Amino acid sequence: MAHIGIAGAGFSGAVMARALAEAGHRVSVFESRDHVAGNCHTARDDETDVMVHTYGPHIFHTQFEHVWEYINRFGDMRPYNHRVKATSGGAVYALPVNLHTINQFFGTTMNPADAAAFVQARASRLDGAPVSFEDQGLAFVGRELYEAFFAGYTRKQWGTDPSELPASILQRLPLRFNYDDSYFNHPYQAIPADGYTPIVEAIFDHPAVDVRLSTPLARGESDSFDHVIWTGPIDAFFDHEHGRLAYRTLDFEREVHTGDFQGCPVMNYCDSDVPYTRLTEHKHFAPWESHELSVVYREFSRVCEPADIPYYPVRLVEEKAQLLRYTELARAVQGVTFVGRLGTYRYLDMDVTIKEALDAAAVIVGSLASKALIPPFIVDPLS
Ligand SMILES: Cc1cc2nc3c(=O)[nH]c(=O)nc-3n(C[C@H](O)[C@H](O)[C@H](O)COP(=O)(O)OP(=O)(O)OC[C@H]3O[C@@H](n4cnc5c(N)ncnc54)[C@H](O)[C@@H]3O)c2cc1C
Repeated sequence: MAHIGIAGAGFSGAVMARALAEAGHRVSVFESRDHVAGNCHTARDDETDVMVHTYGPHIFHTQFEHVWEYINRFGDMRPYNHRVKATSGGAVYALPVNLHTINQFFGTTMNPADAAAFVQARASRLDGAPVSFEDQGLAFVGRELYEAFFAGYTRKQWGTDPSELPASILQRLPLRFNYDDSYFNHPYQAIPADGYTPIVEAIFDHPAVDVRLSTPLARGESDSFDHVIWTGPIDAFFDHEHGRLAYRTLDFEREVHTGDFQGCPVMNYCDSDVPYTRLTEHKHFAPWESHELSVVYREFSRVCEPADIPYYPVRLVEEKAQLLRYTELARAVQGVTFVGRLGTYRYLDMDVTIKEALDAAAVIVGSLASKALIPPFIVDPLS
């Protein structure tokens, strides 16, 4: 039996702790914050009693059958179909851009084939592959839709002009020529009836797992364990030897209203002159509950300073070069595996986080059994 130390009690730390405990190992988990579940933490708002997604809206969606089965072992997942609205130029539209958005925006009544031809005719033609987000946006939807739905929002979200962001960011956004306004395509979409935190607590609930809140783990303490799993920031493990990896952070301004404030869970604000990116009205994430009052978070994006919570990794050319230097340091250290969104400096949805943590745990359990060297990464952060 090995004694494993884990830094971080988010989904990555929890899933790995459970798998290692079930394989017969002893696990000590350290968490800097005073709660588990990392950025997926949820808590009842004192004033309104609404379940709040403390670090921003979290909707569980997946195509992985085994991940869906896994999360259902630990809590009551309620069916939930996420729909997002967007305010742009004084009107409200449905996102992702779909046939309704297109017909409403251009004042037309096109069918799918006509709309596809119409958008294609407006899209700019590129010589070669698109380099920037702006190239990609213009080639994808044409100037009018690009300016209305993507340019201003992206400028606010990333604090950078879209002409300086990579095309890869926009490649992931869907464009639909039908009336499907579901935000996600995955077959399983849900929100836990009691929030994410009780699910993570249930994952940790194993006699061989010990969780210490408000107790950060430092690199120097790694020697007390047979192996360490680090789900905190990879640059923090190395005391930012190669500088701090850049993140965007979010500020939330909390407001309380009576009744239904905006009629939907998330409203994006696409215009550049509106300083916030979106408004989240949390009670719409639990349509099975009823609340007289409503709590709304107005979301602002900015550069992450050392004392802030890191949200979105920037991952531009400079940061990838810096990340490469950190991966080289990590490969030279033995006894530590870097996992999760901060450990590998990637944006990961919850389902991918759970999947990667299960895969990583299987490798570590196998390596412990065969006394093989445990790799520093199960997924290459630069992939
Ligand atoms: C605004 C926003 C919205 C999102 N919405 C969705 C969504 O709708 N659907 C979805 O699937 N995913 C969503 N995600 C992604 C989701 O938040 C991540 O998948 C998930 O948080 C990853 O879990 P993790 O355990 O890897 O990291 P985290 O949740 O960040 O957990 C890491 C934990 O490690 C702790 N820690 C760090 N350093 C140390 C240390 N040295 N010692 C001890 N503890 C330490 C931190 O305090 C933190 O609690 C969203 C992310 C953001 C930023």
